[in-house]
Amino acid sequence: MQYRPLGKTGLKVSALAMGCMRLPADDPELSARVVDEAIAAGVNYFETTRGYISGKCQHLTAPGLKGRSRGLIVSGKAGINKETTEEGYRKEIDLQMEILGVDYLEFFQVGWFSIDKFEMLTHGGALDALNQARGEGLIGHIGFTGHDKPENFTKLIETGIFDSFTIPYNLLDRQYAPTIKRAGELGVGVIAMCPVAGGMLASPAPQLQQLIPGGAQTTAAAALQFVLSNPDISCACSGMNTLEMLAENVETVNAFAGPSEEDHARMERILDEFRAIGDKFCTACRYCMDCPHGINIPRNFSLHNRARVYGLIDWARSEYAGMKDEAKAGACIRCGECEPKCPNKLPIMDQLEEVAALLG
Ligand code: SF4
Ligand code: SF4
Repeated sequence: MQYRPLGKTGLKVSALAMGCMRLPADDPELSARVVDEAIAAGVNYFETTRGYISGKCQHLTAPGLKGRSRGLIVSGKAGINKETTEEGYRKEIDLQMEILGVDYLEFFQVGWFSIDKFEMLTHGGALDALNQARGEGLIGHIGFTGHDKPENFTKLIETGIFDSFTIPYNLLDRQYAPTIKRAGELGVGVIAMCPVAGGMLASPAPQLQQLIPGGAQTTAAAALQFVLSNPDISCACSGMNTLEMLAENVETVNAFAGPSEEDHARMERILDEFRAIGDKFCTACRYCMDCPHGINIPRNFSLHNRARVYGLIDWARSEYAGMKDEAKAGACIRCGECEPKCPNKLPIMDQLEEVAALLG
């Protein structure tokens, strides 16, 4: 297993981290084995929160950690709101440690965070609770996670309060790339979640596999290699729920000797070109909506894009099959109402026909 610096914390984190929110809910024994084998394979970061898996995430993680949590980087997480008090947040930290059966959490993350909650954090008591717990040696570091605008997350990491943050980053979602770069300059650790885009990149996509020098064996491997070739990423945090998935990810990361920073820059350029092709087709602005007949025009075009531009045909067909019949491209009756509203002047009706032919 490769280990990489986690910002300026002095910690070394395994390149592959485990997001425990996907542990198998109905199989505590398998959950314990997945955690246990991950530790045996060298994974040393486990991201947990109390609310995931219908409140069972930390209960399912705890047995695998039993007696071995020292030396591991385990994180807890809780959100804040206007009602959050110092006492209430401290109780939450204590409760999560109790469920996990640990006497120390290397990280506690402010969950579902955004810049409009900054005052709540600093003046509502949660930050005092975190600092107090850190002072007592119960937690090591403070992080956050959320889905705010990249420029807002850049402002948050520039406050100096946070040692790390967790954001989505993958081949198809690079919106936080500038924030990640800034984090690298500041020495803030970056945990990349959704490295395989919630499973989308587990589907075959030859165009994406070919991005990796020499070609990646699978799209999932390409996805992990892309994330880890960004030098400012500390680790790729993947939700794994089977021993096979764990073994495949461990193998990919262990075999990882590149791509280099130059390769990463080249992949970024190609992905920008891919995106430009997709944007020429449909920018998902939704000005054409609502279709009076129920067609979800941008969703159809987004699936078509992913299939044509990135080669995710199997995934797009399966998503198309799961759409309501009346929302599918094939249900368009060519009334013509949408086309004048499209700023890109797309021939929507003809293109919906193409979508139906490819995905239907
Ligand atoms: S042409 Fe098709 S997609 Fe456009 S508004 Fe009419 S039914 Fe809806
Ligand atoms: S208006 Fe045009 S570009 Fe915008 S979502 Fe509709 S089809 Fe796409």
